[in-house]
Amino acid sequence: MRASNLLISTLKETPADAEIVSHQLMLRAGLIRRLASGLYTWLPMGLKVLRKTEAIIRDEMDKAGAQEVLMPSVQPSELWQESQRWEKYGPELLRITDRHQREFCYGPTHEEVITDLVRQEIRSYKQLPINFYQIQTKFRDEIRPRFGLMRAREFLMKDAYSFHLDHASLQQTYDDMFAAYSRIFSRIGLDFRPVQADTGSIGGNASHEFHVLASSGEDAIAFSDQSDYAANVELAEAIAPAGQRAAAAETMTTVETPQQHTIDDVSQFLNKPATQCLKTLLVEGAEEDSVVALVLRGDHDLNEIKAEKHPLVAEPLTFATPEKVLESCGANIGSIGPVGLTIPVLVDHAAAFVSDFVCGANDDDKHLTGVNWGRDLAEPDTADLRNVVAGDPSPDGQGTLDIARGIEVGHIFQLGENYSSKLNAVVLNETGKSQVITMGCYGIGVSRVVAAAIEQNNDDRGIIWPEAIAPYQVVLVPVNAHKSVRVKQKAEEIYQQLQAAGIDVLLDDRGLRPGVAFADMELIGIPHRLILGERGLDNGMIEYKSRRTGEGDEFPIESVIETIK
Ligand code: ATP
Ligand code: MG
Ligand code: MG
Ligand code: MG
Repeated sequence: MRASNLLISTLKETPADAEIVSHQLMLRAGLIRRLASGLYTWLPMGLKVLRKTEAIIRDEMDKAGAQEVLMPSVQPSELWQESQRWEKYGPELLRITDRHQREFCYGPTHEEVITDLVRQEIRSYKQLPINFYQIQTKFRDEIRPRFGLMRAREFLMKDAYSFHLDHASLQQTYDDMFAAYSRIFSRIGLDFRPVQADTGSIGGNASHEFHVLASSGEDAIAFSDQSDYAANVELAEAIAPAGQRAAAAETMTTVETPQQHTIDDVSQFLNKPATQCLKTLLVEGAEEDSVVALVLRGDHDLNEIKAEKHPLVAEPLTFATPEKVLESCGANIGSIGPVGLTIPVLVDHAAAFVSDFVCGANDDDKHLTGVNWGRDLAEPDTADLRNVVAGDPSPDGQGTLDIARGIEVGHIFQLGENYSSKLNAVVLNETGKSQVITMGCYGIGVSRVVAAAIEQNNDDRGIIWPEAIAPYQVVLVPVNAHKSVRVKQKAEEIYQQLQAAGIDVLLDDRGLRPGVAFADMELIGIPHRLILGERGLDNGMIEYKSRRTGEGDEFPIESVIETIK
C-alpha cells in the first residue's frame, strides 16, 4: 500500500475523553472514530488490524473443526420468549419494533437463533457433535459504554455454539475450544491467562474466561502464588488505593435525584438477587473516582431506597436493600433522621470499597463516623470466588492469592441443556428415543482483543503492534524522494520486491519531512521501518529500525528481503 492512497489521520493531541491508553492511541493513530456513545467506525488502518485478528481466529476455529455460519443480527422476540430471556435480559437488550408492530431485538448473543436452527436441521445423534461459529456484529446497550471499543455498544464477536449427545462429548469440544483459544491468543502475541469464571445467571456447569493482563482491566483476577489456580474475582472485592479514597471523599457532594425504585425493580433490572444489587451498581453505575451517596429517606417503607449521587455519575442508580445498608454500616433504623441517612460510597473505575466514612442525617450532629461496609455485603453465590482479597489462602489449599487486573477477551461456557430444553432441541439417540441436546458456547470479543493488544503493547511514542496483527509489517520511508529521482526509483523497486515476497509493506510516499513521517509511523506502531536515502544508496545500504526495541541497523539493499523475513 502507498501511504499517499491511504487515509492516515493521526492526531498529535490526546483526546480529552479517552481515559485509557488503548482508546487514546486508537484515536490518535487514526484506527477508529466515534460516531455516538459506544459506536465506532473502523478507519482503513484499524480495519486491517481487525481483519488480521479475525483471520487468526477463523483459522484456529476451522482447524478445531467448527463450521462458519452467519446469522442475522436482528432476532425475533418469540425465540427470546421461548428461552425466557426476553424478560430476564433487561435493558442491555436493544428492542426494536417493526412496521407490523412485531418485536425484535438486536442480537447481543445468539444462543436462541442457533438452537432454533439446530432443532430444525439436526435430527439424529449421528450428526453430533457439531460446532458452529460466526464472526459478527453484536449490540449490547451497555449501561456505561467506555474505553472506546473495550466496552462498546456495537462490537465484533466471534461466537461459537456446540451441540452434543452427552456431557463427555461436550467436555471434549470444550477442551478443544480451550486449546484453540490458547493458540489464538498466543498467535496474536498477547500475555493472557485462562481463569475459572462464574457461571452466573446463565446457569450451566464449567466456564473459563481468557484474560489479557493489564492494569486498566475491569476485572480482578485471583492467582495462587503456588499453584495454577486462577479465578475471576468480583470487582468490588478489589482494593483501591488509599490516596484516591481520601481525594474523592473531599469532593463529595450529594444531589437530589427524582429517581425512586424498589429494590425489586433493581433486582429484576439486573437479573441478580437483591443482595447483590448494591455491589453491582457501585461498579456498573458509577463514574471513575466519583462518590455516590446512598440516601435512605426517613419516610421510606424499607422496601424503597432513594439514590442521591455525585453530579459526575451518569446513571442515577445506587441501591441496596435497606436492611443490608443499615446492617453493614452498623446503623439501625433509629439512625435515620427526618432528612435521611446519607452513606457516601467511593467508587473507582474498577473497584468499589467503602471504609471509615461518615454517615447520618443531613443535619448537624446527626452523623456516625468511622463507618465501614462489611466485606460480605453480597451473598456469595460461588463460595470460593467471592469476597477474595490479596493474601487470602488459595481455594485449592496451595499458597495464597495475588490479585491482578484482567481484560476479558474470551469466554467459554458449558451450557448443558439450559437452552435446548427450553427450545425443545432434541435428537433421536441410538435407541431411537428423543433426547435433549447438550450445548456449549464460546465467545471472543474480536474488537476488544485489538484494544487489549494495545493496552499491552505501547510506549510514549504510540502503539507497538505484535507482528501478527500489525496493519503493515514494514514501512519503507524514502528520504527526500521528491528531490532525488534515484531514491524514488530505488524505493519503488524495493517496495515491489517486498510485495512480491508476500510482505505487507507500506511505502511512505507522502513526501513529509522524515521526522514527521517517522513520528506518524511510530504512533501507528508498524513493527519494522526501512529508510532509504541518498547516502545509503551511494553505499548500497538501507537503514533499519525496530519499533519494539528501538534498535537501528544498516544492511545491504540486496539482502532486504531475507533480513525482513
Ligand atoms: P463483560 O464482562 O466485559 O461485560 P461479558 O461477560 O458480558 O463481558 P460475554 O457474554 O462473555 O461478555 O461475551 C463474549 C465476549 O465478548 C467477552 O468475553 C468480551 O471479550 C466481548 N464483549 C462483551 N461485551 C463487550 C462490549 N461491550 N464491548 C466489547 N466487547 C465485549
Ligand atoms: Mg457484559
Ligand atoms: Mg464477563
Ligand atoms: Mg463473559
